[in-house]
Amino acid sequence: MTQDEHFMHLALEEAAKAAAIGEIPVGAVVVRHGEVVAAAHNRRETGKNALAHAECLAIEEACRVRGGWRLWDCELYVTMEPCPMCAGAIINSRIRRVIYAVPDAKAGCCGSVTDLFSLPFNHRPEVTAGVCADECAALVQDFFTRLREELKTRPRWKKPVPETAAQPKACAAPKEKKHTAEQGFSAADQAEGSSAAAPKQEETP
Ligand SMILES: [Zn+2]
Repeated sequence: MTQDEHFMHLALEEAAKAAAIGEIPVGAVVVRHGEVVAAAHNRRETGKNALAHAECLAIEEACRVRGGWRLWDCELYVTMEPCPMCAGAIINSRIRRVIYAVPDAKAGCCGSVTDLFSLPFNHRPEVTAGVCADECAALVQDFFTRLREELKTRPRWKKPVPETAAQPKACAAPKEKKHTAEQGFSAADQAEGSSAAAPKQEETP
């Protein structure tokens, strides 16, 4: 087993802790000179905190242990490709090298969605991808398979039926047209990254 595989297994153990408490299994370990400085797992749901990603928590702990924010002689092992927030934290903490297992097609910022580390920021960590990828992917897959099974057994939420009678059909046609137009506008608006059309109308006195 290589040193990278050894530390990735420790990150995997952290990811398994996340899965055990119902969190998406992501684990991270900060290593300095061959020794673990900090280890953490995703706690976004249990901590009710959008910032509680494994990497950010591990970096925070490493800064505390090291007594400073410059982690230039540290390496970060993480089971999933870092998101924009965590890639930003990696840049800001000057972590020397990032080692991750599986890519994240929806949020990964080491090449999947974008590659933040290729942009001209003031720090560019070295990146190694695919270490223990099969094991980490299996953990994530297993988590979502179990979650889907669990969701099947939960009672489904049903949209409440309004008590008022349905509108006469004569009125339905123009209303439907207007609705379609609004939907079209809203979709186009969202595609441009702005969804402020409806709130603006409400704010108008
Ligand atoms: Zn993240």
